[in-house]
Parts: sequence; structure tokens; C-alpha cells
Amino acid sequence: MQKIKAAVCRAFGEPLVIEDVHLAPPGTGEVEVTLDAVAICHSDISYADGAWGGFLPAVYGHEAAGVITAVGEAAGDFKVGDPVVVTLIRACGSCPACAGGQPTICETPYDNVKGPLKTGDGGQLEQAMACGAFAEKVVVSHRQIVKIPDDLPKELASLLSCGVITGVGAAVNAAGVRPGQDVVVIGAGGVGLNAIQGARIAGARRIVAVDMTEEKLEIAKEFGATHGVLAGLDQPWKAAYRALGGRGADAVLITVGAVPAYDQAPRYLGRGGKAIMIGMPHSGDMASYEPVVLAALGQGIVGSKMGDVVIQRDIPWMVDLYKQGRLKLDELISGRWSLDQINEAIADTKTGSAKRNVILFDRT
Ligand SMILES: [Zn+2]
Ligand SMILES: [Zn+2]
Repeated sequence: MQKIKAAVCRAFGEPLVIEDVHLAPPGTGEVEVTLDAVAICHSDISYADGAWGGFLPAVYGHEAAGVITAVGEAAGDFKVGDPVVVTLIRACGSCPACAGGQPTICETPYDNVKGPLKTGDGGQLEQAMACGAFAEKVVVSHRQIVKIPDDLPKELASLLSCGVITGVGAAVNAAGVRPGQDVVVIGAGGVGLNAIQGARIAGARRIVAVDMTEEKLEIAKEFGATHGVLAGLDQPWKAAYRALGGRGADAVLITVGAVPAYDQAPRYLGRGGKAIMIGMPHSGDMASYEPVVLAALGQGIVGSKMGDVVIQRDIPWMVDLYKQGRLKLDELISGRWSLDQINEAIADTKTGSAKRNVILFDRT
């Protein structure tokens, strides 16, 4: 066990506490990654606020990048010094879901509480989302990480591990957007902007962003939205129809957690269209829809976790698209913070105006 600094959640809804915690060495199939950057995602905030329950104390954080500093037995071809992205997708590789090409819904459970973390006094400490990346180091499965080029800045790489793959993957993998299709993206935040650029990369004809403020709609256009609709309008889907030449969308990507967005999403769809649920509402939240409309118009509603990505397949092409100037990463970062400032960074994320806030670790 070694001592590392981590931001620990001791009570839901309370500020995180910076503490010394213990991290076990990597076991079979695992690696230790010393982190350079971890971005703050709304999922971290939902957990810290208690929206989804779970064990306490816990260390959240799951959008990370760093360098491998120790390798366990049978951990693939990874070696010390490799720069990597760390994701929360802890897939076994052999269950029916993994074997069927959907590691994001791996069926093999992993016990986060019995993971590599312990509190300073040796008590149980949850490695939330199988990452626990609000910490100087993580120990994770080698299946959760992907090698990245040395020259890709870690603060940009960290974004690839959740917000980018979730948004771009939802458009490309879950919705399967084809050239010429029309897409509506509800929410232009960290995931929504990536769903927008995913639809652009896939060749969408028109991309309508829906959000609460003109400012966010303007940012959406920088990422590829061709039109913007204010979510606060009475029947905002009618404004989207107008933008789409009088018809509904082929795909609606719901990237927020607010229930009204889920209730309204099918209204934006055209015949044969699909609504993709990407955001993560609180446990117990319910949405409603009119089955006869979906049946008569051949529409669908489907969930998508982490953009249905296969990280070893999808992250390398996203890195290449970034290098070619076809995927925006720099523009996603709205603030840089130290681990000591994490509660301020979280508060800033909660205002809803931030894109992605990134914690940078001082490794000098
Ligand atoms: Zn996330
Ligand atoms: Zn599996």
C-alpha cells in the first residue's frame, strides 16, 4: 500500500475532503496510472450529491489521463511509461455483452468497495465507477485504458475518456447517423457539444441544438450545429421542424438529465426516427411517451451508455480526427484547477455555464 492524496466524499451534498488515502499495488490484469489530468463530469456531481446512492466514503472522478507507473501480471502489452486515457468502462472481455461488441454494458460485476483504495486509517473506501480518479494515482484494469500518443496533452486526453466518447459515440454508434440525416441534440453541455460534433463527423445534413440560453446555442454552432432552438419556448419541437424544412429528425440525442427533455424528445422525431437517451437522470425519475405514435410512425427510444464505445477501437480514431482538426478538444475546456480547488471547480460546473473543468496534478 502507498499513500496518495485524494478528494474523498464523506457525506452526500457536502464538500469533498482532501485526504491521504492508501492505494494497493496493481493485481492481476491491472495497472497503476499516475494522473496528469482528470475532468469533472456531471456524473461525479450526481454521485457526490447522493442522486444515485452508493457506499461512503468514496472517491469519484472518471475522466482521467496519465502515465503508467506500475504493471501487474497479465496486463496486456502495457508497460511503465506508456501515456494512457483511463475510462470507467471496466469490461471483462468474455461475457455475452463484451463478446457481442458492447463492453459498455459488461455483465460481470466488479466490487468497487473491495477495490484498491483504503482510507488513511485502513477503513473501506469505494473506488467509485471503478476509477476513483479524483486522486494522484489510480489502479485499474488494463481493459479500462487506451494508449495515446506522447504528444497529446493529458488535459485534452482526459476529455476523451467520458464526455467525448459518450457524445460522439452516441451519434456515431448508438444513433448510427448517416450522411444526409437530420439530428436534434438536446443540451449543449460537455456531452451535448460532443454529440453535435459526432453528428457533424457522421455527415449529418442539419444539426439542431436545443438549450436554455442563446449563449449555449452560439457555442453549439462552433461545434457544428446548423440551427439553435431555445428549450424554454412553448413547444420547442415546432421550431426544430421549421429548421428541418417541416419534418422531424432522424435522430434525437438527449444529453441532459432533466426529465422534461425525455418527455419531449419523441416530439422532435420524424417517421422512423430514433431518440437516444444519453443523459443520466436521478434514480427513480420517470418519463412518459405515447406508444401509439411510436408504433404508427416506426419510431424508437433507446438508451446508450458511454456512447456504446469500444475504447480500443474508438479512442484511437478520435485522436487522429483531433490531430487532423476534425474533432474539437481544446475548445471544450473552460477552466483549469488544482486538486485542492476541486470544490470550487465542482461549484463552477454546477452553474451549468462551464463546458469541462479539468483538475491538473502538479507532478514536479
Ligand atoms: Zn463522465
Ligand atoms: Zn463483460
